[in-house]
Amino acid sequence: MLGAGFGGLELTTILSDAFGDAIDIALIDKSDTFVFGFSKLDVMFGRRMPDNVHHSYRDIVKPGVRFLQSTVRSIDPLARRVVTDDGTFEADVLVVALGADLDPAATPGLMEAGNEFYSVAGAFALRDVLPRFERGAAIIGVTGKTFKCPPAPSETALLLHDYLVSRGRREATEISVVMPFGTPIPPSPETSQAILAAFAERGIRFVKDSLVKALDAGRKVAVLSDGTEMPYELFLGVPVHRVPQVVVESGLAADAYGWVPVNKKTLETNFPGVYAVGDVNGVGTAKAGVFAEGAARVVAAAIIAELRRGPSPEAYKGDGTCYIEFGNGQVGKVHVDFLSGPKPAGTFHGASEALFAEKTHFGASRVERWFGVPSATPE
Ligand SMILES: Cc1cc2nc3c(=O)[nH]c(=O)nc-3n(C[C@H](O)[C@H](O)[C@H](O)COP(=O)(O)OP(=O)(O)OC[C@H]3O[C@@H](n4cnc5c(N)ncnc54)[C@H](O)[C@@H]3O)c2cc1C
Repeated sequence: MLGAGFGGLELTTILSDAFGDAIDIALIDKSDTFVFGFSKLDVMFGRRMPDNVHHSYRDIVKPGVRFLQSTVRSIDPLARRVVTDDGTFEADVLVVALGADLDPAATPGLMEAGNEFYSVAGAFALRDVLPRFERGAAIIGVTGKTFKCPPAPSETALLLHDYLVSRGRREATEISVVMPFGTPIPPSPETSQAILAAFAERGIRFVKDSLVKALDAGRKVAVLSDGTEMPYELFLGVPVHRVPQVVVESGLAADAYGWVPVNKKTLETNFPGVYAVGDVNGVGTAKAGVFAEGAARVVAAAIIAELRRGPSPEAYKGDGTCYIEFGNGQVGKVHVDFLSGPKPAGTFHGASEALFAEKTHFGASRVERWFGVPSATPE
């Protein structure tokens, strides 16, 4: 099992529950801890302390599972052989769940004259940057067409609004969101309308169908895909996403932007016994933890069916529910079904405090299932 993110943790947990010691899973990740994507926003806006959002892989004590902290250096999908810094592994079934890599250097000026909030380090560093933002324009800018958690830039704008109001700095500042879509959440017009209404109420500008191509450090302007320039004081970027290089080199993906092709129903790659789960695949869902989790369940069911010689499991549906922070302690949610209809369709549930509590439970229940320990409660 390569990668202990949303996909890897869910798959490992299901297989351990099903087979216990009768299975031998090597769960390999270069990191020593897991951090939820949404915890990055919590830390950046000072809602949680960095120490409270790391979940240590050392805590995984599950029958049949060995966690190895090591970097995957090469994958041979034909032989199902993996070389890591700490040895070579051969597998009967190989699951690649290495996620999407971030490439901030692909956007000129982003590293020198801006910030990114998609990596753990980038989001945590903003905890010290945001308090220094006193006046002027803030841009939340997307730099590539494919990015994880499409609601995250909008959530960031709404949370930044609250943060600036609480510091008494909102009137001296402007907030804009630059996104490559025509609406914030294209598969769900209702969700998009609710977000755009929240933006309008708070004076947040939505710049649609645009990407930030570069930051000009000298002039402090963001250059958009159509050449428009937007001055800024604070730039919060979503970096370019790419297929991890080790996956490209394995032949599972054609190039850095060609997400691993899979059978849409089974998530099997072109190589027998090799599956790609979560952000790394090109199945056609949004890139989000809930879709990685759903994909992991389908692959787990296939492995269980194969080992128990049971009937083939149901096909992957490509659906999932994302929570969306609206600020003011309110959370909405959208259920999106990407694969069963002719086009992706979403159902929106309006923002409420009850959904804030539901989102908290969503995170806590995963920590308990995956790590077997109750999660630290938000302070
Ligand atoms: C700000 C933000 C907010 C988000 N909010 C939400 C949300 O509310 N809901 C939601 O569902 N999703 C959310 N997401 C998206 C979510 O975090 C990802 O889509 C999800 O983690 C994808 O799961 P995955 O298993 O495919 O990959 P990941 O969780 O990214 O896991 C991949 C793992 O592979 C490891 N890895 C990579 N390369 C190597 C290598 N060479 N060797 C060893 N290990 C390696 C990494 O260390 C990592 O642990 C958010 C993301 C961000 C950035």
